[in-house]
Amino acid sequence: MDHKAAKRVAIVGAGTSGLAACKHLLARGFRPVVFEAGASVGGLWTRTLASTRLQSPTAGYRFSDFPWPEGADTYPRHDQVVEYLAAYARRFGVHECIRFRSQVVAAEYVGEDDDACVAEQWAGNGEAFGGDGAGVWRLTVRHGDSDSDTTQVYEFDFLILCIGRFSGVPNIPAFPPGGGPDAFRGRVLHSMDLSDMDDADAAALVKGKRVAVVGSGKSAYDVAAECADANGVERPCTVICRSPRWLLHDVTVWGKLHLGYLYMNRFAELMVRKPGAGLASTLLATLLTPLAWLISKVTGAYYKKAIPMWEYGMEPEFGFAGSISSCKIGMLPEAFYDKVRDGSVVIRRSRSFAFCEDGLVLDGGAVVVPADVVILATGFRGDQKLRDMFVAPRVKAIVAGSSSDTAAVPLYRECVHPRIPQMAVVGYSESLTNIYSVEMMAKWVARFLDGAFRLPSVPRMERSAAEWGRYMRRSNGESFRGACLGAVNIWYNDQLCRDMGCHPRRKKGFLAEWFQPYGAVDYADIQ
Ligand SMILES: Cc1cc2nc3c(=O)[nH]c(=O)nc-3n(C[C@H](O)[C@H](O)[C@H](O)COP(=O)(O)OP(=O)(O)OC[C@H]3O[C@@H](n4cnc5c(N)ncnc54)[C@H](O)[C@@H]3O)c2cc1C
Repeated sequence: MDHKAAKRVAIVGAGTSGLAACKHLLARGFRPVVFEAGASVGGLWTRTLASTRLQSPTAGYRFSDFPWPEGADTYPRHDQVVEYLAAYARRFGVHECIRFRSQVVAAEYVGEDDDACVAEQWAGNGEAFGGDGAGVWRLTVRHGDSDSDTTQVYEFDFLILCIGRFSGVPNIPAFPPGGGPDAFRGRVLHSMDLSDMDDADAAALVKGKRVAVVGSGKSAYDVAAECADANGVERPCTVICRSPRWLLHDVTVWGKLHLGYLYMNRFAELMVRKPGAGLASTLLATLLTPLAWLISKVTGAYYKKAIPMWEYGMEPEFGFAGSISSCKIGMLPEAFYDKVRDGSVVIRRSRSFAFCEDGLVLDGGAVVVPADVVILATGFRGDQKLRDMFVAPRVKAIVAGSSSDTAAVPLYRECVHPRIPQMAVVGYSESLTNIYSVEMMAKWVARFLDGAFRLPSVPRMERSAAEWGRYMRRSNGESFRGACLGAVNIWYNDQLCRDMGCHPRRKKGFLAEWFQPYGAVDYADIQ
């Protein structure tokens, strides 16, 4: 067995991130094992609402070297996304590496001594598998279904976590004393529970019921649209929204200009104060602030005119550019505002809510929304999901930072924790089209394991992670924990390219380089 095939690499998760990580490790001669808790590939796309479709157009949401089939919808259904991901897994031999129904319940780093975690160099020498005396990751894996499961322990030289951020651990808001779900006599569930259900069971759950949905993001709108379709104006669905986001009907402005030309090219990134940029770049971004402001205003004005958000008090509180840098942007369900207009969806803005016996109390008691079912579309705790993977309190404490830390999840290059050796995370930081960013992370991690580069010293990585964390905090405001590369994706890719020894400028010609949108395909030759 050659030296690389002998290295034991585990990947946890077979969603887009895990598939990309496995494909690129195979391409570099490794033989990873993928543990997947579910029964098939595709991650969250296998567990969605019936109506869920891809929000990013297929031109952006694709692997660099694997196009969608001829004639695919621009916004395919969730099952078509799963089929695309499964075809990718089959094409590149990923499928054979996956052990389905295998949930990693605990990960523990076991070394001869604990110095690897506090050394000046990551893993002792800045290399993926560490130097002499490197430890191993001991994974406890539950195989099988709940009725007949077995638990086994495995050891690996490297661990790659691809467990996803938007599933698994729901974010449940804090309630005032006596105002939690226990006070309510109806049913309370998280949007995740609804997605996990069979389509028919989910439809039956809301049919004929007074449903209230809490949330401001895409999931809340999707749930409300499905409830409205099920119950019409007879039993309107109420959406309780704290802070509206930019949810669009189309990704072209004025029917002509794709948003990518405004926000996903190199010129657009000149207007952003980027983490780790030099003085000249920061100065230029400051000088271009009026232009950035103007583009944001004009784009926002177009959408405000095209979508009746103002009429229903749903104008976002932050500018359009802010939605790009915070990844708080999505697509409206079809004809959503028609449902609001005909009364099958009722929108209520409220800063706070609590439960009462008959439903929800808004804004400290001023309004009561009667309900039989309350669905919390309040997001996920990806940080908690990461913590839950580990046994050691020290690792639990540092992997996802704490409220006082600069960075939400302090990962160098959004992949490697400076103080957790022989481990990488792929897919925690999101982007406007996720495959684009996770595939680059997968390429970077695979090359790192292949010895193409070493990591800098631990203090340098910490400084870099903190700098990116400050950027996330500045651009995402109070929700900076949702690490988002939306406005700096090319800048981020440039750094990965340099590490990998690849040229960061990927386009042919000056105009294309500066003004054409960048996407996964531009990096197709990095294998
Ligand atoms: C409703 C919805 C719509 C979205 N639409 C878009 C879109 O249009 N465009 C876009 O760019 N992004 C979209 N996203 C973001 C989406 O998160 C990413 O596009 C992407 O699918 C995430 O892939 P992932 O592999 O990182 O995570 P996931 O898809 O969540 O996959 C993680 C996998 O890890 C497995 N796993 C987790 N823990 C364990 C464990 N302990 N042991 C074993 N296996 C484990 C899970 O079973 C799962 O299969 C959407 C998200 C949601 C929730």
